[in-house]
Amino acid sequence: MTEAMATLADWSRAAAGVTIEPGLFINGKFRPSATGETFAAVNPATGNITAQMACGSAADIDAAVAAAKAAWDDGRWRHMLPRQRMAIFARFADLVEAHAHEFALLESLAMGKPVTDALNIDIPETVVTIRYFGECIDKIAGSVSNSAHDAVHMVSREPLGVVGAISSWNYPLLMATWKVAPALAAGNCVVLKPAQQAPFSCLKLARLFVEAGGPEGVFNVVNGFGPDAGKALALHPDVAKISFTGSTRVGKQLMIYAGQSNLKRVSLETGGKSPQIFMPDLPDLDRAVDAAVMGIFDNAGQVCNAGSRLLVHRDIHDEFVEKMSRRAAQLYAPGNPLDPATTLGPMVSRNQQQVVLNGIKKGKADGATLAFGGHDVPTMADGAYVVPTLFTDIAPTMDIAREEIFGPVAALTSFRDEAEAIRIANDSIYGLAASVWTNDVRRAHRMVKAIEAGVVWVNCFGDGDMTQPFGGFKQSGNTRDKSMECLAGYMQSKSAWFSLG
Ligand code: NAD
Repeated sequence: MTEAMATLADWSRAAAGVTIEPGLFINGKFRPSATGETFAAVNPATGNITAQMACGSAADIDAAVAAAKAAWDDGRWRHMLPRQRMAIFARFADLVEAHAHEFALLESLAMGKPVTDALNIDIPETVVTIRYFGECIDKIAGSVSNSAHDAVHMVSREPLGVVGAISSWNYPLLMATWKVAPALAAGNCVVLKPAQQAPFSCLKLARLFVEAGGPEGVFNVVNGFGPDAGKALALHPDVAKISFTGSTRVGKQLMIYAGQSNLKRVSLETGGKSPQIFMPDLPDLDRAVDAAVMGIFDNAGQVCNAGSRLLVHRDIHDEFVEKMSRRAAQLYAPGNPLDPATTLGPMVSRNQQQVVLNGIKKGKADGATLAFGGHDVPTMADGAYVVPTLFTDIAPTMDIAREEIFGPVAALTSFRDEAEAIRIANDSIYGLAASVWTNDVRRAHRMVKAIEAGVVWVNCFGDGDMTQPFGGFKQSGNTRDKSMECLAGYMQSKSAWFSLG
């Protein structure tokens, strides 16, 4: 599937012939679930069943953790020379890159992502993630401290053991790779429980790791549902850490499971309700409006750091809303995700479509003004579509200003001055990301310091690279993905004191 894929016909043909591996990937092989149970994977763009996937449960988690533990115990991965592991990572990245079209198709069929987005964003970023953490492998270093003359004090960094990764469906391959790549680079073995809505790409990822030379048993994948397979992984006594991307509600549950089992580490990347603050002295209103539009309507709003709260100074409010209405219609029209021209796919499922439509209903009932959108797409009723939606006249107390909707719905509030903007921005249980738009460098620094969020963009939104730690304050999580900071989270320090006397 490497020839030019330029048209809907090309992608539709490829979709008809694509191989979806339905099994669990344990100890380097695909297999059915222990119970033989399966679940239907439904394409949210059409409502058609794409595949029957093996449905993992506690017995499969036991088997996968046992495989990972055996690989950990005999050191087949962590004892391999760093340079050998780096070579495997490099081949792994090359293989993912070589299968970019197939991965894009799998993402699209699973959760309705426009293939162009998958090809331009998800897959290249996945490749960069693998390359980055592969390159880190022989840069991991400990230290020798300045201790007494008759002693040597050495601090080394060691992997944790078996890491359980539980991931979300919005960027299925990329979110899983943000966990799996640093965990493996640090020398751990992994059991991944991908989101049940979108497991296809994660299964292929694990197979390519083995094809690249990764030892069997080091990277395992168990499809299944959260309260069953996910819970079993989070409660497992041989799992040293759970690394999670998903909702705040489930994140809290995982901390309870850790307490109920072996006090495993739990790192959480959870929800958000990110504010974008537009000051009247912003450098370029058109560019700012485009960032507002893309920040909330990309990936149909199913983005943890989506800029779902727009705080716009009252002097530019009317012009901003008028421009935003125009640009949203120009940039995001619902379409078939397999059409390379499509920029807005469906919600991941009927269920998520209903959640989003209910959020819209509540916004109307609470008295917010619907500036545009606010409905499904009757002409595409087989798909779980919701059109780009903007509410204005938002009171900070309304649900639409406080709760994560995880769909293409923005809530726009106007403010009088910097102090009020900061107060509204920080009035949230979340603190994942934020942006500030201003031409005044002192104001920008002041606001960056005042905003309670793990990531703050200035005069842009969503920009960054692998060196940038990504994660939230408050109930948006307790860890960072990407960057060397993330890698440290998959290791523990050992302090060894040598007496020379
Ligand atoms: P979710 O919490 O419903 O599910 C996430 C994962 O947890 C899935 O694999 C699911 O099967 C599993 N799970 C569910 N219940 C479980 C349980 N009791 N025990 C163990 N595992 C369980 O979230 P979702 O709907 O898949 O994803 C959307 C959420 O993810 C949003 O809140 C979004 O903000 C968040 N998210 C955060 C980031 C980030 O980096 N902060 C990135 C992407 C998505």
